[in-house]
Amino acid sequence: MAEDRAVTFVVTDNCIKCKYMDCVEVCPVDCFYEGENMLVIHPDECIDCGVCEPECPAKAIFADTEPGLETWLKLNAEYASIWPNIAVKREPPADAKEFDGVPNKLEQFFSPNPGQGDASDQGADRGSAVDRDGGTERLSHGQDP
Ligand code: SF4
Ligand code: SF4
Repeated sequence: MAEDRAVTFVVTDNCIKCKYMDCVEVCPVDCFYEGENMLVIHPDECIDCGVCEPECPAKAIFADTEPGLETWLKLNAEYASIWPNIAVKREPPADAKEFDGVPNKLEQFFSPNPGQGDASDQGADRGSAVDRDGGTERLSHGQDP
């Protein structure tokens, strides 16, 4: 286990162009962020509960205690700070199955462009900085009025 930072979970290569989004439905702290063709986890927001890992059909989520994930941890941290938050699952890409298991997707297919996040589906006030820093938004998620 790393000594100088908390453990987090990270999204890795096989999410690219699969992006099934089952993971976002189960995360208790809504710490997934959406790029054009993959998701990432914000390492400072992830509480290391591990709930998302078995939910990923592409088996793309790992604890960063596994060896060789430094590149992915950096990528998750970098893009989680600029891509929009996503907590509501949408349809996966039509060709997701065809790309499941294709090697070296990072080199071939990674897009740094942001995804649409929840905001465009659910009104303009979602996906803003409120989600990141506002505890009330997070606590109210999933509760009945
Ligand atoms: S469930 Fe897996 S493949 Fe789908 S978006 Fe989440 S990490 Fe990516
Ligand atoms: S480990 Fe838990 S908190 Fe972290 S991304 Fe997965 S579901 Fe969310």
